[in-house]
Amino acid sequence: MLDTANTQEQLQARVRVVLVDTSHAGNIGAAARAMKNMGLTRLYLVNPKQFPHADATARASGADDVLARVTVCTTLDEALVGCHLVMGASARLRNLSVPLLDPRQCAAKVLSEASGAGVECALVFGREHSGLTNDELGRCHHLVHIPTNPEYSSLNLAAAVQVLSYELRVATSSEQVEVAGENAEALASADDMERFYVHLQQTLETIGFLDPKNPRIMMQRLRRLFNRARPDEVEMNILRGILTAAQKAKHQSDPE
Ligand code: SAH
Repeated sequence: MLDTANTQEQLQARVRVVLVDTSHAGNIGAAARAMKNMGLTRLYLVNPKQFPHADATARASGADDVLARVTVCTTLDEALVGCHLVMGASARLRNLSVPLLDPRQCAAKVLSEASGAGVECALVFGREHSGLTNDELGRCHHLVHIPTNPEYSSLNLAAAVQVLSYELRVATSSEQVEVAGENAEALASADDMERFYVHLQQTLETIGFLDPKNPRIMMQRLRRLFNRARPDEVEMNILRGILTAAQKAKHQSDPE
């Protein structure tokens, strides 16, 4: 069991908020404010249209320290390096191939994992106009939807950040959290998983299982399978070893 203060500190250190392709700098500032109110501090921006910007500073209104420590990235993969649990916030109930949670379930999951040794979690938010792409959702272990009026389901970006951060805060304050699997092997990180998917696709093409002209649907299905399995580092080494052995066997059986 952990005490609340410790859990809050761990959350600050281990939960990052990732905003993808944000158009309005004001939303970045408002998101920083929402995070700081709820005790989160690590903000990652993937290709922001305008940053730094006066509108961001104005809307942050006192959360300038969060803005000052922002990490700006060029790809979502870069923003997810070192993450083990990735939650994608979605205004629309699409791509139901990724398991769907509500904000409370999301908070419980993040909390139970972020209390485990060395586990990092990301909450990913999409573009104001079009949300997250299917490829981006394919990087997520779970999709999180904030229940809304079904005819008007899209919240302002910073409001969505507020709701998910608030639920994390409530979950931290109201529960004693079980430390997740302290003796378990470390989970494979998002970047380990991306390297694995590249290796998997190459191998499946080499052995003639995957049509290189049309790999998309099969790779999406395989991503869903392995993201659900959440392999640890030892299991990941075994999987990579299998792929290497399959490639070697194929090369050896090929005629000279
Ligand atoms: N028009 C976009 C919505 C963009 S809102 C669309 O239809 O997808 C910007 C971001 O805020 C979304 O990508 C999502 O990350 C978050 N967001 C907005 N409303 C949400 C909701 N009801 N549940 C979860 N996330 C939401």
